[in-house]
Amino acid sequence: MKWLVLVLHEMGEAGKKIRGRGNKKGGRKKREDGVVCRWCGSGEVVKNGKKPDGRQTYLCKECGRRMVEKPKYKRMREEDLKLALKMRAEGMSYSAIGRVLGYSEAAIRMNILKKTLKTPSGT
Ligand SMILES: [Zn+2]
Repeated sequence: MKWLVLVLHEMGEAGKKIRGRGNKKGGRKKREDGVVCRWCGSGEVVKNGKKPDGRQTYLCKECGRRMVEKPKYKRMREEDLKLALKMRAEGMSYSAIGRVLGYSEAAIRMNILKKTLKTPSGT
């Protein structure tokens, strides 16, 4: 289970970098896609590459902070989903699986639910 420790460690590191305090005036300009800075609420955010897991990262021009896109839940990669199903079978909770695989609890729940309800065809 060495990979597990590694993943958890990396997540901790990422969390430290992303986190920070942020409460500034909120000049709420809306982007087309509705993305606003989670720190200052500004719509002056530009795309800033992607995370290895495919999530879009944004850079706020207003406060200079970076953030990661937070969808309601995201679709899991097939291999992650298989892992998640295994972990679930081992009795792990949705939130625990989410922490290990780097998804939100909702993502795990929704993806597993969808998978067990019906088998989606292709990707
Ligand atoms: Zn900002």
